[in-house]
Amino acid sequence: MCAMNTQNKMIIAIDGPAASGKGTLARALAKKLNFAHMDTGALYRATAFELIGSGLSTRDKKDAVDAAQILVKKINNAQQPADILDNASLREDRIGLEASKIAAYPRVREVLRALQRSFLENPGKGFAGAILDGRDIGTVIAPSAPLKLFVTASVEVRAERRLKELQSKGLAVTYGAVLKDMRERDTRDTERKAAPMKPADDAVIVDSSDLDAGQMLEKAMFLAKERLKL
Ligand code: C5P
Repeated sequence: MCAMNTQNKMIIAIDGPAASGKGTLARALAKKLNFAHMDTGALYRATAFELIGSGLSTRDKKDAVDAAQILVKKINNAQQPADILDNASLREDRIGLEASKIAAYPRVREVLRALQRSFLENPGKGFAGAILDGRDIGTVIAPSAPLKLFVTASVEVRAERRLKELQSKGLAVTYGAVLKDMRERDTRDTERKAAPMKPADDAVIVDSSDLDAGQMLEKAMFLAKERLKL
């Protein structure tokens, strides 16, 4: 695999499991630092959504690769690529679960990897750097990013957070069901052969269990100033 030289770039890699707070942190950091942000989970979600929307199954690897390629084309041709990934339906838990199935296919990852690397190379005009959040950013996508964070919390804390989030949207869900889905997704993401979720050797582990969004941002800003020499 040819690892891109990101050594001297202003790149922050944020990884971690579902509902760990990594997305909130990535968005807040990006705003504060004027960095472009890519939620890479949305790419896997959009691929699964594309498949399901076409009446296909996430069990078929070839269909999944085709869906990833279609998505990449759509994003590359879009005036506003963010609009494709901002679709609220992508945030549904069932899409997250299906996304974790196609995320285990190496060829799907390869197709989406190219898009993430080109974002790293060219995050867009006017941005001082790039932040990506996902599962394999520090290990595979940007292994030489000067700052890598692995944001985590116990599965019970994360399920509680997700439950509140879903209930606030008026969805009738139970803690047990949310916990079960989260465990299933964690297991699949951690145990797959292709780019499993794990902290990079030099990642800073941030336990978000007892930290609010402001405290997380403060901690990350401190590290960003130190590692990126801001
Ligand atoms: O982060 P999010 O929950 O939106 O991710 C959805 C799924 O996409 C994850 O459970 C994981 O299987 C997959 N994913 C991945 N690699 C990434 C980002 C997400 O495998 N970099």
